Amino acid sequence: MDNTERLRVLELYSGIGGMHYALNESSVPAEVVAAVDVNTTANEIYKHNFPSTPLLPKTIEGMTLQDFDKLNFDVILMSPPCQPFTRIGLQGDVADPRTKSFLYILELLPRLSKRPSFILLENVKGFETSAARDALLKTLRECDYSFQEFLISPTSLGIPNSRLRYFLIARRPPGSFSFPTSILEGFPMSESSNSLAVPHNHPTSSECEREKTGTIIFKLETEEELERKRIQDSQETVRRLQDFLQEDEEGMDQYLLPPKTLLRYALLMDIVQPSSRRSVCFTKGYGHYVEGTGSVLQSCVDVELEGVFKSLELLSEEDKLKQLSQLKLRYFTPREIASLMGFPADFTFPKHISIKQQYRVLGNSLNVHVVSQLLQHFYCCHKVKLHFASFDSTKQKICVYID
Ligand code: SAH
Repeated sequence: MDNTERLRVLELYSGIGGMHYALNESSVPAEVVAAVDVNTTANEIYKHNFPSTPLLPKTIEGMTLQDFDKLNFDVILMSPPCQPFTRIGLQGDVADPRTKSFLYILELLPRLSKRPSFILLENVKGFETSAARDALLKTLRECDYSFQEFLISPTSLGIPNSRLRYFLIARRPPGSFSFPTSILEGFPMSESSNSLAVPHNHPTSSECEREKTGTIIFKLETEEELERKRIQDSQETVRRLQDFLQEDEEGMDQYLLPPKTLLRYALLMDIVQPSSRRSVCFTKGYGHYVEGTGSVLQSCVDVELEGVFKSLELLSEEDKLKQLSQLKLRYFTPREIASLMGFPADFTFPKHISIKQQYRVLGNSLNVHVVSQLLQHFYCCHKVKLHFASFDSTKQKICVYID
């Protein structure tokens, strides 16, 4: 295919290139004509994996209308910073300085000499009730786009990892993109669609605070939580974690949880096994903070989890540690998280990027397969089997993949 037939894609907030990988996987004939991000670590990783893609290491609001016009793009793929919209991020929304660049994009969109024909935006759950989303929809309507919104978790694609995210897809002119209501109708709507099971994997209080008080925190799981995990583990349409794990190789010991963490946080951790069909969302604090940042793996399965935790409180520190150590609890490696997030095997980190930095950039990224499915489905109208439910919390119909 010659270049003139390929869509020109602008990848904003490009990070480590999750959108770029999704585009490649989708087989939509396209090329990324520019990726823009201000984070030097993420940019190094992006460059390492996409050496021939023009990467602009600058702020979006530092680019002029002319700069954008020159790129002559047909598509925008973007993941604006999500902290202003998360529950733990204080929900600064449009008042948060990190939303400034996004509002700038909304301001530019009507003024572009050629409006892109396709826009895909990814953000956290929470964005759908924000003022930023209202501003986005207002701009899209004024610019003659038709759009559709989704809340999707990779579990709906059979991937054993929860990462419920908001997606918006917009196209113009509106006539060119009839949203596939026929496909929607062809799939069962969830009856309990108003009571979506959203993973509770956000820390409820600051772990830094706990560090200060030095107390050991015990959080025993409620029956409901246990039941939810049991149900997830019995869903055979979801793959087992073992498919995503690295073989026990040298250097794996560095991922074992240190004694201090084991002693203090054992009961707060979400522990999974290779045979599990679930894991909680890996966030950027993974490997550093324990609670709510992602699951840990029980790599020795000869020992029964319940047995180890039973009467743990009655033991001395030393015995407690001995008992917990039998489980060989370890963090998932960055490579394993990348695999769960759909990054291909040829995605790598430059040598000097620390493990902590790797977790951080992965935590900011997205599930490649989910975005790829959306691109395929809505751009090429491939017959991708989608499984929708719908709910109407915001008076705007949002389609939801059941998590
Ligand atoms: N989708 C990306 C990650 C997006 S996270 C991936 O797959 O990795 C949001 C990104 O926006 C971060 O990498 C951050 O550095 C970048 N960013 C935040 N504010 C920015 C701004 N004003 N201009 C350019 N990039 C910005």
